[in-house]
Amino acid sequence: MTKETVHGVLIECVQGDIASRPDMQAVVNAANAQLLPGGGVAGALHCAAGPGLEQECRPLAPIRPGQAVISGAHNLPNEHVIHCLGPVYGVDEPADKLLADCYRNAVQLAEEYKLASIAFPSISTGAFGYPKKEATEVAFRTLVEILPRLKALQHIRFVLFSAADMHLHEDVFNALVHEDSRNA
Ligand code: ADP
Repeated sequence: MTKETVHGVLIECVQGDIASRPDMQAVVNAANAQLLPGGGVAGALHCAAGPGLEQECRPLAPIRPGQAVISGAHNLPNEHVIHCLGPVYGVDEPADKLLADCYRNAVQLAEEYKLASIAFPSISTGAFGYPKKEATEVAFRTLVEILPRLKALQHIRFVLFSAADMHLHEDVFNALVHEDSRNA
């Protein structure tokens, strides 16, 4: 597990299930356009949240690739769920910009709601087929760039399902943070 404070924000990568993060104010859903349960992250979050989440989401849908919307967390142990629609790799273009928009828009919502902590999954790298290394680079580049402007957010956590994905995130993060500090 990697943990490092960058521009006053604690960034960490852990292995596990994003639906059981009781210490985070918001968890991010790798949503589908209709904000329906589905599989992967959306399935796990809706299952733990209960049917109230789907009901609350219905009037917010559909959302566009890159967009983020916020809801309550219902039976999840959090205050909010931030739903992001990642790009379907090879279909929604430009994929890197749309994926970066997800992270940027999710963080912006967290700031608007004055949330101190947010947990992300690796958006678009499951059913949507985005190559994992490239997606991880987009995620961290986007976050590292906006860290200096954050006011409310103090803690960003990546929750990765597999050990391999966690190690990939640690490697990409460490490389980027050291690149960032050399350029500072
Ligand atoms: P997308 O449709 O955006 O690709 P998925 O939910 O299919 O979203 O997958 C996104 C990533 O989340 C994948 O790397 C997948 O392995 C991982 N994942 C799936 N379920 C969970 C979970 N419960 N907690 C954390 N990560 C998960």
